[in-house]
Amino acid sequence: MFPLKQKHSFAVDVNAKQVIEIDSIGALQSLVWKNDTYILGEGTNTIFTEDFNGQLIINRLSGIEIKESETGWHVYAAAGENWHKLVVKLIGLGIYGSENLALIPGSVGAAPVQNIGAYGVEVATFIDRVEVYDCKLHVQTTLSHEECEFAYRDSIFKRPAHWHWFITGVHFFFPKAWQAVLGYPDLASLASDATAEQIMSHVIKIRQQKLPDPARVPNAGSFFKNPVIPQADCQRLQADFPGIPVFLQANGECKLAAAWLIDKAGLKSLSVGGAAVHERQALVLVNRNNASGADILSLAEHIQTNVRERYGVELEPEVRLLNDYGLIYS
Ligand SMILES: Cc1cc2nc3c(=O)[nH]c(=O)nc-3n(C[C@H](O)[C@H](O)[C@H](O)COP(=O)(O)OP(=O)(O)OC[C@H]3O[C@@H](n4cnc5c(N)ncnc54)[C@H](O)[C@@H]3O)c2cc1C
Repeated sequence: MFPLKQKHSFAVDVNAKQVIEIDSIGALQSLVWKNDTYILGEGTNTIFTEDFNGQLIINRLSGIEIKESETGWHVYAAAGENWHKLVVKLIGLGIYGSENLALIPGSVGAAPVQNIGAYGVEVATFIDRVEVYDCKLHVQTTLSHEECEFAYRDSIFKRPAHWHWFITGVHFFFPKAWQAVLGYPDLASLASDATAEQIMSHVIKIRQQKLPDPARVPNAGSFFKNPVIPQADCQRLQADFPGIPVFLQANGECKLAAAWLIDKAGLKSLSVGGAAVHERQALVLVNRNNASGADILSLAEHIQTNVRERYGVELEPEVRLLNDYGLIYS
């Protein structure tokens, strides 16, 4: 049995039956894909709620290449590289664009999967193409930006039909014509001519203040997605709940702040067994004291039911929840 407590940031004390570490394309070539296979990066968006009896493959591919062109930088990072270390490296080299995405935990390979985003920027903006190894057909292929079907916390890689695609590396393009993205309220205190270095430092500082450090208080970041609802439903909510934060989307729909919905429903600091809603950030569930998978699922369900009954809004998990053989929710 292989202990998983250190392999996912929610640190549930469970084990895996079979683990294969992938440190080369050759290791993928000899892999036999099964229905219960799960690809793991750094486990910061994955919660194992029970002992995992499937086949767990852990990404360890490394390497970064940077090429300059007239208009920008072409950056290739292997999927097992750490995302935040890549951001720090790029900003240090004067390659700007990813500064708002500093300190997001996890691997480069997982970044396109849910199209990681923070402080008004999504990683998809800089993804030119993604290298994929098809673990069923045993062929390598490249997906263009368009083929990745990026959306809010979503991409083609999340669809069950493509779970056997192992992302081996990501090609980014960072244009030299850089523009700071400062529209997010938390960045309002920065000067309009703030440098990328200043933005990165500020983002790191805010994240350290607002979010619990998984190394000290195990968690998986935002547990739920911010719900996106039609404008008519949004107007009803604004009438019933004055002051509800609403972010109008380009397509006319409205994005709500799940943290606000949970907080105002009086669910902050709620706990079930060892699992709890974080006292400062209601969107983050934490493993306060040896939480079991059942504690986490029960707490999440309690929150979903309360939010549904109070606002008529469905909260979908952003985290990947696994039971003994695979994904419960993705
Ligand atoms: C404290 C904290 C703060 C966070 N803040 C943010 C935030 O601001 N914005 C944000 O977007 N996210 C945030 N997250 C979530 C997390 O950082 C991201 O989802 C990150 O991309 C997960 O990387 P990982 O390597 O840990 O992925 P894992 O949890 O290991 O995997 C996540 C998913 O990607 C798949 N996957 C992983 N690697 C590969 C691969 N090589 N090929 C194919 N599929 C793969 C897995 O099967 C799984 O479905 C936060 C998490 C924490 C703990």
